[in-house]
Amino acid sequence: MTRDATAALASPALAPWAVDPARSRGRRHAEAATPGRNEHQRDRDRVVHCTAFRRLMYKTQVFINHEGDLFRTRLTHSLEVAQLSRSMARMLRLNEDLVEAIALAHDLGHTPFGHAGQDALHACTAALGGFEHNLQSLRVVDELEQRYPAFDGLNLSFETREGILKHCSPRRAASLEALEPGGVARRFVDGTQPSLEAQLVNLADAMAYNAHDVDDGLRSGLLDMTQLAEVTALGRVQQQVLAEYPGLASRGRRLPSEMLRRLLSTQVRGLVDCTDQAVRAAAPRSVDELRLLPPLAALPPTLATEFSELKRFLFAALYRHPQVIQTTAAARQVVSELFDAYCAAPGEMPAEHADGADPKRAVADYIAGMTDRFALREYHRLTGRIPFPAALPPALWSAARSAPV
Ligand code: MG
Repeated sequence: MTRDATAALASPALAPWAVDPARSRGRRHAEAATPGRNEHQRDRDRVVHCTAFRRLMYKTQVFINHEGDLFRTRLTHSLEVAQLSRSMARMLRLNEDLVEAIALAHDLGHTPFGHAGQDALHACTAALGGFEHNLQSLRVVDELEQRYPAFDGLNLSFETREGILKHCSPRRAASLEALEPGGVARRFVDGTQPSLEAQLVNLADAMAYNAHDVDDGLRSGLLDMTQLAEVTALGRVQQQVLAEYPGLASRGRRLPSEMLRRLLSTQVRGLVDCTDQAVRAAAPRSVDELRLLPPLAALPPTLATEFSELKRFLFAALYRHPQVIQTTAAARQVVSELFDAYCAAPGEMPAEHADGADPKRAVADYIAGMTDRFALREYHRLTGRIPFPAALPPALWSAARSAPV
Protein backbone atom coordinates (compact mmCIF):
# COMPACT_ATOMS: atom_id res chain seq x y z
CA MET A 1 0.00 0.00 0.00
CA THR A 2 1.37 3.44 -0.87
CA ARG A 3 2.00 5.98 1.85
CA ASP A 4 -0.93 8.13 0.55
CA ALA A 5 -3.34 5.21 0.59
CA THR A 6 -2.26 4.34 4.14
CA ALA A 7 -2.77 7.94 5.22
CA ALA A 8 -6.26 7.95 3.70
CA LEU A 9 -7.23 4.98 5.88
CA ALA A 10 -5.86 6.46 9.11
CA SER A 11 -8.29 8.02 11.56
CA PRO A 12 -8.94 11.60 10.47
CA ALA A 13 -8.72 14.53 12.87
CA LEU A 14 -11.88 14.91 14.91
CA ALA A 15 -14.56 17.31 13.69
CA PRO A 16 -15.13 20.35 15.95
CA TRP A 17 -18.50 18.86 17.03
CA ALA A 18 -17.06 15.45 17.89
CA VAL A 19 -16.48 14.37 21.47
CA ASP A 20 -12.81 14.98 22.21
CA PRO A 21 -11.55 12.30 24.63
CA ALA A 22 -9.13 14.85 26.08
CA ARG A 23 -12.11 16.97 27.17
CA SER A 24 -14.26 14.25 28.70
CA ARG A 25 -16.63 15.36 31.43
CA GLY A 26 -14.98 12.65 33.46
CA ARG A 27 -16.02 9.74 35.63
CA ARG A 28 -18.18 9.56 38.73
CA HIS A 29 -15.14 8.44 40.71
CA ALA A 30 -12.05 10.44 39.74
CA GLU A 31 -9.25 8.33 38.29
CA ALA A 32 -5.80 9.28 37.01
CA ALA A 33 -5.28 9.18 33.24
CA THR A 34 -3.68 6.03 31.92
CA PRO A 35 -0.72 6.06 29.50
CA GLY A 36 -1.34 4.83 25.96
CA ARG A 37 -5.14 4.94 25.95
CA ASN A 38 -7.60 7.78 25.90
CA GLU A 39 -10.66 7.87 28.18
CA HIS A 40 -13.04 6.30 25.66
CA GLN A 41 -10.63 3.53 24.64
CA ARG A 42 -10.40 2.78 28.32
CA ASP A 43 -14.21 2.61 28.56
CA ARG A 44 -14.38 0.21 25.62
CA ASP A 45 -11.76 -2.03 27.20
CA ARG A 46 -13.63 -2.09 30.52
CA VAL A 47 -16.82 -3.12 28.72
CA VAL A 48 -15.11 -5.92 26.78
CA HIS A 49 -13.65 -7.38 29.99
CA CYS A 50 -16.83 -7.27 32.09
CA THR A 51 -19.00 -10.26 32.98
CA ALA A 52 -22.22 -8.84 31.53
CA PHE A 53 -20.51 -8.54 28.13
CA ARG A 54 -19.57 -12.24 28.05
CA ARG A 55 -23.12 -13.20 28.99
CA LEU A 56 -24.41 -11.49 25.82
CA MET A 57 -23.12 -14.53 23.95
CA TYR A 58 -25.95 -16.64 25.38
CA LYS A 59 -28.75 -14.10 25.31
CA THR A 60 -31.50 -14.06 22.73
CA GLN A 61 -31.82 -11.47 20.03
CA VAL A 62 -35.03 -12.77 18.39
CA PHE A 63 -34.53 -16.53 18.50
CA ILE A 64 -33.95 -18.22 21.82
CA ASN A 65 -30.32 -19.20 22.16
CA HIS A 66 -30.92 -22.95 21.92
CA GLU A 67 -32.93 -22.65 18.68
CA GLY A 68 -29.84 -22.62 16.49
CA ASP A 69 -26.14 -21.87 16.45
CA LEU A 70 -26.21 -19.49 13.50
CA PHE A 71 -28.71 -16.91 14.71
CA ARG A 72 -27.63 -13.58 16.09
CA THR A 73 -27.21 -13.30 19.80
CA ARG A 74 -26.94 -10.09 21.79
CA LEU A 75 -23.17 -10.41 21.49
CA THR A 76 -22.99 -10.69 17.72
CA HIS A 77 -25.66 -7.98 17.45
CA SER A 78 -23.52 -5.67 19.62
CA LEU A 79 -20.45 -6.40 17.46
CA GLU A 80 -22.43 -5.58 14.30
CA VAL A 81 -23.62 -2.31 15.85
CA ALA A 82 -20.01 -1.49 16.79
CA GLN A 83 -18.83 -2.21 13.24
CA LEU A 84 -21.48 0.00 11.63
CA SER A 85 -20.95 2.75 14.19
CA ARG A 86 -17.18 2.80 13.76
CA SER A 87 -17.42 2.93 9.96
CA MET A 88 -19.84 5.83 10.03
CA ALA A 89 -18.00 7.65 12.82
CA ARG A 90 -14.78 7.54 10.84
CA MET A 91 -16.46 8.92 7.71
CA LEU A 92 -17.99 11.72 9.80
CA ARG A 93 -14.76 12.46 11.71
CA LEU A 94 -16.40 11.52 14.99
CA ASN A 95 -14.89 9.73 17.98
CA GLU A 96 -14.60 6.06 16.89
CA ASP A 97 -13.54 4.79 20.29
CA LEU A 98 -16.56 6.37 21.93
CA VAL A 99 -19.05 4.90 19.45
CA GLU A 100 -17.43 1.50 19.91
CA ALA A 101 -17.69 1.74 23.71
CA ILE A 102 -21.36 2.78 23.52
CA ALA A 103 -22.21 0.10 20.95
CA LEU A 104 -20.57 -2.73 22.89
CA ALA A 105 -22.30 -1.62 26.11
CA HIS A 106 -25.71 -0.66 24.76
CA ASP A 107 -27.41 -4.02 25.39
CA LEU A 108 -25.64 -5.05 28.62
CA GLY A 109 -28.89 -4.65 30.53
CA HIS A 110 -30.93 -6.95 28.34
CA THR A 111 -32.72 -9.80 30.07
CA PRO A 112 -32.62 -13.40 28.87
CA PHE A 113 -35.11 -14.18 26.06
CA GLY A 114 -34.98 -10.70 24.52
CA HIS A 115 -38.04 -8.50 24.68
CA ALA A 116 -40.19 -11.29 26.10
CA GLY A 117 -37.95 -11.40 29.17
CA GLN A 118 -37.98 -7.64 29.49
CA ASP A 119 -41.79 -7.46 29.23
CA ALA A 120 -42.16 -10.10 31.92
CA LEU A 121 -39.69 -8.39 34.24
CA HIS A 122 -41.39 -5.06 33.62
CA ALA A 123 -44.73 -6.54 34.69
CA CYS A 124 -43.17 -8.22 37.75
CA THR A 125 -41.59 -4.95 38.92
CA ALA A 126 -44.51 -2.62 38.14
CA ALA A 127 -44.83 -1.67 41.81
CA LEU A 128 -41.14 -0.66 41.89
CA GLY A 129 -41.36 1.46 38.74
CA GLY A 130 -40.89 -1.33 36.18
CA PHE A 131 -37.90 -2.53 34.16
CA GLU A 132 -36.30 -0.66 31.23
CA HIS A 133 -33.37 -2.30 29.48
CA ASN A 134 -31.57 0.97 28.72
CA LEU A 135 -31.73 1.93 32.36
CA GLN A 136 -30.59 -1.56 33.29
CA SER A 137 -27.57 -1.23 30.97
CA LEU A 138 -26.66 1.90 32.91
CA ARG A 139 -27.18 0.05 36.22
CA VAL A 140 -24.82 -2.69 35.01
CA VAL A 141 -22.01 -0.26 34.22
CA ASP A 142 -22.70 2.04 37.19
CA GLU A 143 -23.49 -0.43 39.96
CA LEU A 144 -23.85 -4.12 39.22
CA GLU A 145 -20.44 -5.08 37.85
CA GLN A 146 -18.06 -5.88 40.70
CA ARG A 147 -14.51 -5.65 39.42
CA TYR A 148 -12.78 -2.77 41.11
CA PRO A 149 -11.63 -2.41 44.69
CA ALA A 150 -12.61 1.22 45.07
CA PHE A 151 -16.06 1.44 43.48
CA ASP A 152 -19.05 -0.50 42.16
CA GLY A 153 -19.60 -0.74 38.42
CA LEU A 154 -17.11 0.10 35.67
CA ASN A 155 -16.88 3.84 36.39
CA LEU A 156 -17.25 4.76 32.71
CA SER A 157 -16.94 8.30 31.37
CA PHE A 158 -19.94 10.62 31.16
CA GLU A 159 -19.99 10.40 27.35
CA THR A 160 -20.22 6.60 27.23
CA ARG A 161 -22.90 6.54 29.95
CA GLU A 162 -24.83 9.26 28.10
CA GLY A 163 -24.87 7.05 24.98
CA ILE A 164 -25.95 3.96 26.92
CA LEU A 165 -28.99 5.73 28.37
CA LYS A 166 -30.68 6.26 25.03
CA HIS A 167 -34.27 6.26 26.28
CA CYS A 168 -35.63 7.09 29.68
CA SER A 169 -39.14 7.77 30.92
CA PRO A 170 -39.69 11.27 32.37
CA ARG A 171 -40.33 9.84 35.84
CA ARG A 172 -37.09 7.82 35.79
CA ALA A 173 -35.21 10.81 34.41
CA ALA A 174 -36.41 12.95 37.32
CA SER A 175 -35.24 10.39 39.89
CA LEU A 176 -31.87 9.88 38.16
CA GLU A 177 -31.39 13.63 37.93
CA ALA A 178 -32.03 13.95 41.67
CA LEU A 179 -29.26 11.39 42.34
CA GLU A 180 -26.83 12.87 39.80
CA PRO A 181 -27.69 16.54 39.15
CA GLY A 182 -26.65 17.62 35.65
CA GLY A 183 -25.79 14.01 34.82
CA VAL A 184 -26.79 11.63 32.06
CA ALA A 185 -30.54 11.97 32.65
CA ARG A 186 -30.58 15.78 32.42
CA ARG A 187 -31.26 15.72 28.69
CA PHE A 188 -34.55 13.88 29.20
CA VAL A 189 -35.58 16.63 31.61
CA ASP A 190 -34.52 19.65 29.55
CA GLY A 191 -35.09 18.19 26.04
CA THR A 192 -31.50 18.48 24.78
CA GLN A 193 -29.66 15.90 22.65
CA PRO A 194 -26.78 13.55 23.36
CA SER A 195 -23.50 13.70 21.43
CA LEU A 196 -23.58 12.97 17.70
CA GLU A 197 -21.68 9.77 18.53
CA ALA A 198 -24.58 8.62 20.75
CA GLN A 199 -27.13 9.60 18.09
CA LEU A 200 -25.18 7.59 15.52
CA VAL A 201 -25.03 4.41 17.61
CA ASN A 202 -28.76 4.63 18.23
CA LEU A 203 -29.41 4.54 14.47
CA ALA A 204 -26.73 1.89 13.86
CA ASP A 205 -28.53 -0.31 16.40
CA ALA A 206 -31.77 -0.19 14.39
CA MET A 207 -29.93 -0.62 11.07
CA ALA A 208 -28.16 -3.69 12.41
CA TYR A 209 -31.22 -5.44 13.80
CA ASN A 210 -33.42 -4.68 10.81
CA ALA A 211 -30.86 -6.26 8.50
CA HIS A 212 -29.88 -9.22 10.65
CA ASP A 213 -33.44 -10.03 11.64
CA VAL A 214 -34.28 -10.39 7.93
CA ASP A 215 -31.30 -12.73 7.61
CA ASP A 216 -32.22 -14.77 10.71
CA GLY A 217 -35.87 -14.79 9.64
CA LEU A 218 -34.88 -16.38 6.33
CA ARG A 219 -32.46 -18.78 7.99
CA SER A 220 -35.20 -19.95 10.35
CA GLY A 221 -37.66 -20.49 7.51
CA LEU A 222 -40.16 -18.08 9.08
CA LEU A 223 -39.62 -15.56 6.25
CA ASP A 224 -39.22 -16.26 2.54
CA MET A 225 -37.93 -14.40 -0.49
CA THR A 226 -41.39 -13.77 -1.92
CA GLN A 227 -42.36 -11.84 1.20
CA LEU A 228 -39.11 -9.86 1.11
CA ALA A 229 -39.66 -8.85 -2.52
CA GLU A 230 -42.78 -6.97 -1.42
CA VAL A 231 -40.85 -4.70 0.95
CA THR A 232 -39.70 -1.65 -1.05
CA ALA A 233 -36.04 -1.54 0.01
CA LEU A 234 -35.55 -5.31 -0.16
CA GLY A 235 -37.45 -5.71 -3.44
CA ARG A 236 -35.21 -3.09 -5.04
CA VAL A 237 -31.93 -4.69 -3.99
CA GLN A 238 -33.26 -8.11 -4.94
CA GLN A 239 -34.00 -6.88 -8.48
CA GLN A 240 -30.60 -5.20 -8.74
CA VAL A 241 -28.73 -8.30 -7.63
CA LEU A 242 -30.71 -10.68 -9.86
CA ALA A 243 -30.21 -8.37 -12.87
CA GLU A 244 -26.44 -8.57 -12.32
CA TYR A 245 -26.34 -12.25 -11.29
CA PRO A 246 -29.36 -13.97 -12.91
CA GLY A 247 -28.61 -17.45 -11.52
CA LEU A 248 -28.08 -16.38 -7.93
CA ALA A 249 -31.54 -17.31 -6.63
CA SER A 250 -30.61 -20.99 -6.74
CA ARG A 251 -27.21 -20.53 -5.08
CA GLY A 252 -28.02 -20.76 -1.40
CA ARG A 253 -27.32 -17.84 0.86
CA ARG A 254 -25.50 -15.66 -1.65
CA LEU A 255 -28.63 -13.81 -2.81
CA PRO A 256 -29.90 -12.74 0.64
CA SER A 257 -26.36 -11.96 1.78
CA GLU A 258 -25.75 -9.70 -1.20
CA MET A 259 -29.19 -8.07 -0.78
CA LEU A 260 -28.51 -7.24 2.87
CA ARG A 261 -24.97 -6.07 2.13
CA ARG A 262 -26.38 -3.60 -0.41
CA LEU A 263 -29.19 -2.56 1.90
CA LEU A 264 -26.73 -1.73 4.68
CA SER A 265 -24.29 0.01 2.32
CA THR A 266 -27.09 2.24 1.01
CA GLN A 267 -28.21 3.07 4.53
CA VAL A 268 -24.67 3.78 5.74
CA ARG A 269 -23.96 6.04 2.77
CA GLY A 270 -27.32 7.80 3.10
CA LEU A 271 -26.97 8.32 6.83
CA VAL A 272 -23.41 9.64 6.54
CA ASP A 273 -24.29 12.09 3.74
CA CYS A 274 -27.50 13.32 5.35
CA THR A 275 -25.88 13.73 8.78
CA ASP A 276 -22.83 15.42 7.29
CA GLN A 277 -25.03 17.99 5.51
CA ALA A 278 -27.11 18.64 8.62
CA VAL A 279 -24.14 19.12 10.89
CA ARG A 280 -22.29 21.36 8.42
CA ALA A 281 -25.41 23.51 7.99
CA ALA A 282 -25.87 23.84 11.74
CA ALA A 283 -22.10 24.31 12.24
CA PRO A 284 -21.94 23.82 16.02
CA ARG A 285 -18.56 24.89 17.38
CA SER A 286 -18.45 22.14 19.99
CA VAL A 287 -20.30 19.08 21.21
CA ASP A 288 -21.93 21.23 23.89
CA GLU A 289 -23.40 23.48 21.19
CA LEU A 290 -24.49 20.38 19.25
CA ARG A 291 -26.34 19.09 22.32
CA LEU A 292 -28.57 22.19 22.19
CA LEU A 293 -29.58 21.59 18.54
CA PRO A 294 -32.30 19.25 17.26
CA PRO A 295 -31.12 15.67 16.47
CA LEU A 296 -28.70 15.78 13.53
CA ALA A 297 -28.01 12.12 12.78
CA ALA A 298 -30.65 10.91 10.34
CA LEU A 299 -31.33 8.92 7.22
CA PRO A 300 -32.49 10.91 4.18
CA PRO A 301 -36.34 11.09 4.06
CA THR A 302 -36.82 8.44 1.34
CA LEU A 303 -34.58 5.93 3.09
CA ALA A 304 -36.20 6.76 6.44
CA THR A 305 -39.64 5.94 4.98
CA GLU A 306 -38.37 2.63 3.58
CA PHE A 307 -36.67 1.90 6.88
CA SER A 308 -39.98 2.30 8.74
CA GLU A 309 -41.70 0.05 6.22
CA LEU A 310 -39.05 -2.64 6.80
CA LYS A 311 -39.51 -2.32 10.57
CA ARG A 312 -43.29 -2.71 10.23
CA PHE A 313 -42.79 -5.73 7.99
CA LEU A 314 -40.50 -7.42 10.51
CA PHE A 315 -42.91 -6.70 13.31
CA ALA A 316 -45.86 -8.23 11.51
CA ALA A 317 -44.15 -11.11 9.71
CA LEU A 318 -41.41 -12.15 12.15
CA TYR A 319 -41.83 -10.80 15.69
CA ARG A 320 -45.56 -11.63 15.52
CA HIS A 321 -45.08 -14.95 13.74
CA PRO A 322 -47.09 -17.64 15.58
CA GLN A 323 -43.95 -19.68 16.21
CA VAL A 324 -42.12 -16.70 17.72
CA ILE A 325 -45.19 -15.74 19.76
CA GLN A 326 -45.33 -19.26 21.14
CA THR A 327 -41.72 -19.25 22.34
CA THR A 328 -41.93 -15.72 23.69
CA ALA A 329 -45.03 -16.62 25.68
CA ALA A 330 -43.15 -19.56 27.21
CA ALA A 331 -40.16 -17.30 27.91
CA ARG A 332 -42.36 -14.74 29.65
CA GLN A 333 -43.71 -17.46 31.86
CA VAL A 334 -40.19 -18.66 32.75
CA VAL A 335 -39.13 -15.15 33.78
CA SER A 336 -42.22 -14.35 35.84
CA GLU A 337 -42.19 -17.70 37.64
CA LEU A 338 -38.48 -17.30 38.38
CA PHE A 339 -39.24 -13.86 39.81
CA ASP A 340 -41.92 -15.26 42.12
CA ALA A 341 -39.72 -18.20 43.14
CA TYR A 342 -36.77 -16.01 44.18
CA CYS A 343 -39.01 -13.47 45.93
CA ALA A 344 -40.50 -16.33 47.95
CA ALA A 345 -37.09 -17.88 48.69
CA PRO A 346 -34.26 -15.33 48.33
CA GLY A 347 -31.84 -17.94 49.69
CA GLU A 348 -32.07 -19.68 46.30
CA MET A 349 -29.99 -16.81 44.91
CA PRO A 350 -26.25 -16.34 45.61
CA ALA A 351 -25.66 -14.42 48.83
CA GLU A 352 -24.71 -11.12 47.19
CA HIS A 353 -28.15 -10.97 45.55
CA ALA A 354 -30.11 -12.35 48.49
CA ASP A 355 -28.80 -9.64 50.84
CA GLY A 356 -29.80 -6.59 48.79
CA ALA A 357 -31.45 -3.58 50.47
CA ASP A 358 -34.31 -3.71 47.97
CA PRO A 359 -35.15 -7.44 47.68
CA LYS A 360 -37.42 -7.31 44.62
CA ARG A 361 -35.02 -5.09 42.67
CA ALA A 362 -32.23 -7.50 43.63
CA VAL A 363 -34.28 -10.37 42.17
CA ALA A 364 -34.88 -8.37 38.98
CA ASP A 365 -31.14 -7.61 38.72
CA TYR A 366 -30.27 -11.28 39.23
CA ILE A 367 -32.73 -12.48 36.58
CA ALA A 368 -31.79 -9.71 34.14
CA GLY A 369 -28.17 -10.86 34.33
CA MET A 370 -28.98 -14.45 33.40
CA THR A 371 -28.25 -16.05 30.06
CA ASP A 372 -31.12 -17.87 28.33
CA ARG A 373 -29.81 -21.28 29.23
CA PHE A 374 -29.00 -20.46 32.83
CA ALA A 375 -32.55 -19.11 33.26
CA LEU A 376 -33.93 -22.36 31.84
CA ARG A 377 -31.76 -24.47 34.13
CA GLU A 378 -32.83 -22.44 37.15
CA TYR A 379 -36.46 -22.72 36.11
CA HIS A 380 -36.10 -26.48 35.93
CA ARG A 381 -34.28 -26.64 39.28
CA LEU A 382 -36.86 -24.52 41.08
CA THR A 383 -40.09 -25.75 39.48
CA GLY A 384 -39.22 -29.22 38.18
CA ARG A 385 -40.82 -28.26 34.87
CA ILE A 386 -39.22 -28.11 31.43
CA PRO A 387 -40.19 -25.25 29.13
CA PHE A 388 -39.73 -25.75 25.36
CA PRO A 389 -39.28 -29.52 25.92
CA ALA A 390 -39.19 -30.51 22.25
CA ALA A 391 -36.46 -28.06 21.36
CA LEU A 392 -33.94 -28.71 24.07
CA PRO A 393 -31.01 -31.11 24.24
CA PRO A 394 -31.26 -33.35 27.31
CA ALA A 395 -27.80 -32.23 28.45
CA LEU A 396 -29.30 -28.87 29.32
CA TRP A 397 -31.36 -30.47 32.04
CA SER A 398 -28.52 -31.50 34.21
CA ALA A 399 -29.80 -31.17 37.76
CA ALA A 400 -26.44 -29.87 38.88
CA ARG A 401 -26.55 -26.23 39.79
CA SER A 402 -23.93 -24.19 38.05
CA ALA A 403 -23.06 -20.54 38.21
CA PRO A 404 -24.33 -18.19 35.50
CA VAL A 405 -22.04 -18.15 32.50
MG1 MG B 1 -29.43 -3.26 20.36
